[in-house]
Amino acid sequence: MRFHAPSFKLFPARLRSIAAGVLFTSCAFAQSPESAFKPIEAEKLNRAAMTPLEIIALDHPAQKWSHAESTNFVFHFTDPVTAAAVSTEAEFFYRVIAKELERDTSQWERKAHIFLFDTDESWKAFQRAGEIDPRTGGIHSAGALFLKRHGAGVLNDETLAHEIAHLVVGRFFGGGVPLWLSEGFAENSAIRCRAAFYRARGFDSKPRYRAVSAESYIPLAELTTLARYPGDSLKMLTFYDESEKLTRFLMSVNRKAFGALMDALAKGNRFETALAKAYGNRFMNLDALEREFKPFATSSVVPSNP
Ligand SMILES: [Zn+2]
Repeated sequence: MRFHAPSFKLFPARLRSIAAGVLFTSCAFAQSPESAFKPIEAEKLNRAAMTPLEIIALDHPAQKWSHAESTNFVFHFTDPVTAAAVSTEAEFFYRVIAKELERDTSQWERKAHIFLFDTDESWKAFQRAGEIDPRTGGIHSAGALFLKRHGAGVLNDETLAHEIAHLVVGRFFGGGVPLWLSEGFAENSAIRCRAAFYRARGFDSKPRYRAVSAESYIPLAELTTLARYPGDSLKMLTFYDESEKLTRFLMSVNRKAFGALMDALAKGNRFETALAKAYGNRFMNLDALEREFKPFATSSVVPSNP
């Protein structure tokens, strides 16, 4: 799920020179082609193949859904302009994130459903009906995405990329990926890939990362074993930011090892076991990792790759 407010900023192409010389963390394949977006009749939807939460969304009394599909998704929406824009982004993020994780998507035929709620009232009513944490702005559940997205909001929100990262990880690594890695990877992908999407379309956009303060820093032994979201809102913010930083740190140290770490964790390894398998040459144990990671996580210098 995505919790805190987006910090992403877009700048028109004419302001591009302002950002010249800034080192961007890249998100590859930014120029991939856009996917076709075709309407579907309501009668063609297979309700029997939908999850209970998808049925709750589909039967939402305040949403008069239209339906359409693209290569990898089925969309439910009220505004075709918003939905068409979302389909272009969704296909882009899906392709890029799967490629980054070196996963072959060509054999995955079942399309994921994306529900685009058009008002705060509708979204809140759905959260209540589905018993979803009221702090969420979007959620991935059992291969489907549920978002509040309408009109101008399209240009100022990383929620879609974040939830698609969850979808890709869920599809190709299963449900065993621990909470910090699930949220850290989703947040990191969202920040980088959304910036790349707009750079490819002529905007000056760069990834914006948030620092973690030394006082709020969560020790790795705690962060990497959390099974539930922190109840306290400030700790929740730190949890997301620090998880993103740990993901970015480990990816920067060794990209291939990061894939091996995710694989081992998804298969049920404890963090320290997976760390030893994937990064044993660099970090002998959790303390060795923490000695290098903590200064990185609490540095206010951005970008601050190790
Ligand atoms: Zn999330």
